[in-house]
Amino acid sequence: DLLGNLRSFSRQRMRCIKCGEKFRRPPLTGACPKCGGNVVLTVHEGAVRKYLEISKEIGERYGVSSYTRQRIELLDKDICSLFENHRVKQLGLLDFMSGSAR
Ligand SMILES: [Zn+2]
Repeated sequence: DLLGNLRSFSRQRMRCIKCGEKFRRPPLTGACPKCGGNVVLTVHEGAVRKYLEISKEIGERYGVSSYTRQRIELLDKDICSLFENHRVKQLGLLDFMSGSAR
């Protein structure tokens, strides 16, 4: 179902490109704690946002319970913040490499 799909997405959105380990949250260092490989997002932001929009639409059209709607809202926020954090980290790295960081 819809929520099941969203949940399974949120379970495996980060992955180590070296050993294939999956993460729910990006590791603090940005590297895989197991092998030190790069950890990347496995999903495309646009695709996820579209899916969330569809979920909300269906929720409104079929009048799902407020509990289900809350779950969708929470996942929405969770996913948005994940992409925001990811972007901030990448921008910070660019700053660092261009020498503008203090
Ligand atoms: Zn790894």
